Amino acid sequence: MTTPSPETESKSEDELDSALVTARRQLERAATHVDVDPGVVERLKHPTRVQQVSVPLEREDGSVEVFTGYRAQHDDVRGPYKGGLRYHPEVSAEECTGLSMWMTWKCAVMDLPFGGGKGGIAVDPKSLSEDETERLTRRFAEELRDAVGPTKDVPAPDMGTDAQTMAWFMDAYSMQQGETIPGVVTGKPPVIGGSYGREEAPGRSTAIAAREAIQYYDREVSATTVAVQGFGSVGANAARLLEDWGATVVAVSDVNGAIYDPDGLDTHAIPTHEEEPEAVLEQDAPETLGNEDILELDVDVLIPAAVGNVITAENADAIEADIVVEGANGPTTFAADTILEERGVPVIPDILANAGGVTVSYFEWLQDINRRQWSLERVNEELEEHMLDAWDDVREEVDAAGLTWRDAAYVVALSRIAEAKETRGLWP
Ligand code: GLU
Repeated sequence: MTTPSPETESKSEDELDSALVTARRQLERAATHVDVDPGVVERLKHPTRVQQVSVPLEREDGSVEVFTGYRAQHDDVRGPYKGGLRYHPEVSAEECTGLSMWMTWKCAVMDLPFGGGKGGIAVDPKSLSEDETERLTRRFAEELRDAVGPTKDVPAPDMGTDAQTMAWFMDAYSMQQGETIPGVVTGKPPVIGGSYGREEAPGRSTAIAAREAIQYYDREVSATTVAVQGFGSVGANAARLLEDWGATVVAVSDVNGAIYDPDGLDTHAIPTHEEEPEAVLEQDAPETLGNEDILELDVDVLIPAAVGNVITAENADAIEADIVVEGANGPTTFAADTILEERGVPVIPDILANAGGVTVSYFEWLQDINRRQWSLERVNEELEEHMLDAWDDVREEVDAAGLTWRDAAYVVALSRIAEAKETRGLWP
C-alpha cells in the first residue's frame, strides 16, 4: 500500500515491515498462546474502518496545498476508539492501521475501557508555520468531525503533535457542535480540561516498567546503567525519573547523535526536544556517538524512545544491553524480536511500557466527563497503581508459561478482548 521512501529503499526487507505487517504477525504469534476462537483472531486482523480525508491548507504565500489525513479505527469492543494523531511525512493508511491495532492491545493490557485508533496527516510539521499548523488542524478536525467524539473515538497527541494541537482540535470540534466538548480529545493543556501529568505520563510509565524489570531480574536501580535513544517527552521523562531514582544514565540521543558519559549525565540539564529542539549534541560530555550507536552500548537497560523499527535483524545481534524497554511504539521489528529472544535479552513491550500516555488520557477523559480536575499527586498515584496492576498481570503470564514479555502482554490483552467479543457476540 505504501511506496518506500528514498531512505528506506536501500534497507533490508526486515526494516521495510510496516507497522501493520508487524502488528498482524505479533497477533498471530500471540494467538498460539491463548485459547481463543479463531474467528475472533480473524476479526482482529482487520480494522473496523480506515477513513482517508483531504485537508486543504492555504499556505502563507496564498497558495493552496492539499494534504492527506487518516483515521484508522481498529476495534471498539471494550469502548471508544482511542489513540494519537501524528503529523509526519510517512503517515499512511497502512501505518495508521498497524498503530491502531497496537492501541487496541495497549488499552486492553492496561484494562482501560477503550479500543484502538490512530490517525494523522502525511506532512512534515517542521515545514509549517504555527498559523499553518493551526489552520491544518482545524480543517482536519472538521473533516473527521463525524468520526470522532467522546463516546466514539478520542484522539490524542502523538509524533509531531502536542497539547496545543489538541486544543485547536477540541476548539474546532466544539465550535461546530455548538458546545464545549473537552472529552473529544485528550492530551489538552490543563487549563481547558487537560490532565496534570499527561505530558510526562508515557515517560513515567516507561521508567516504572524499567524499574520493575530491573527488580524482576534481581538488580538494584541504583546499580543500573541506562541508555536512552530519543530525548522527546518519552525519552527525557524516562531518563530523568530513572536518574532521580538512582540509576546512572550514561547516554542520551536525538536525531543528530548521542552524548555519552560513563559516570552519568545530568539529564535535567539537557533540554528536551520540546524545550529546545535538537540540543543534545550541544551539551558538554566526554564522548559523542552516532544516534544508532547508542543502541549498541553495553548498558544494563536500553530504552529506544525515538521512532519505530530501530532494532532490526541487522543490529539485534549487536545489542549489548541486558534489558530493552520500549519507550517508542514499535521500535523492535518482528525479526529482531526473535533474535533478542534467542539471545535471552528481555524486551518490555511498548504496549505495556509507554502505556502511561493513554492511561492518563483515560484519567483526563474521566475528569472531562465529571468536570472535575485531579491533582498531579492523584494522577501519578493512580498511574503507578495501574502500571503495577498491568505489570503483575503480564508477569504472571511470563512466570506461568515462560512467555516473552511481549507475548505475555498480548495474551493478557487478547484474552480480555476475546472475552468481550464472545460475550457481546457477532452482530447480526
Ligand atoms: N499516542 C499515544 C500512544 O501511542 C497516546 C494515545 C492516547 O493517549 O490516546 O499511546
